[in-house]
Amino acid sequence: MPELAEVEVVRRNLQRWWEGRAAHQVCVFDEQLLRQTPPDALTEALTTPLTKAGRRGKYLLCHFATGQVLVLHFRMTGKVICSDVAEPAYARLSWYIEGQGWLVFKDQRRLGRARLLEADEFDAYEPLQKMGPEPEDVTTEDLQNACTDRRLLKTALLDQSIVAGVGNIAVSEIFWRLKLPPRITCGQLDEPDWQRLVEVMPQYFEEIIERSMADEILYLEEGEMEDIFEVYGHEGDDCPRCAGEIKKQKVGGRSSYFCETCQGLSQ
Ligand SMILES: [Zn+2]
Repeated sequence: MPELAEVEVVRRNLQRWWEGRAAHQVCVFDEQLLRQTPPDALTEALTTPLTKAGRRGKYLLCHFATGQVLVLHFRMTGKVICSDVAEPAYARLSWYIEGQGWLVFKDQRRLGRARLLEADEFDAYEPLQKMGPEPEDVTTEDLQNACTDRRLLKTALLDQSIVAGVGNIAVSEIFWRLKLPPRITCGQLDEPDWQRLVEVMPQYFEEIIERSMADEILYLEEGEMEDIFEVYGHEGDDCPRCAGEIKKQKVGGRSSYFCETCQGLSQ
């Protein structure tokens, strides 16, 4: 499942492949991907130059010279790749960029979405309006103001209205870096803990983006992904820091991975 890092990798690729250029040909293979957007309107937008490949949280934002924005949401298995052919396996939408090849929105599970917004619709687009700051911009005050004492820190960080783009994998990895127990509540953090949290979150994402950079992102669910995590998916392994055992436990309804020795379970 894509988190901020995977979407950012695709954004950097699109910047390289597509910015400043317009598509010459567009093929819509699966209208379910488009939902409210008529294929003709999408084709018209794609054949104007892309001015900027942007991102907010887990949303990829393709800005056109017309002021329109194509919002891509990858959900479970969506991604954009660059291909020699218009219709590789699981292709839902393809557009041809001269000198690069076919940019293909691929999606095995078909849960991804592409929606074209006019400039005014984009300004009012609710999922982005309600989204909290990016991890690199969030402050201790933002977090403390949004978190109640009894709320699990994990649940708070997964709330996109508090901080954008943090997913379940990131939570386990960030907690491990900070030596925080998986069930810590917001009220159990002291001021230095909050300070370290806002420092470590963007560092974590920057490192994971660097480790994930590739022309095609791979998801854990696809089983081909290189293991780039310290604890996530490592149940039963030794902790890379203290050689304690990595455990897996449901916290806030989703699996947390943690070291039972060095992540302060006494709290
Ligand atoms: Zn450990």
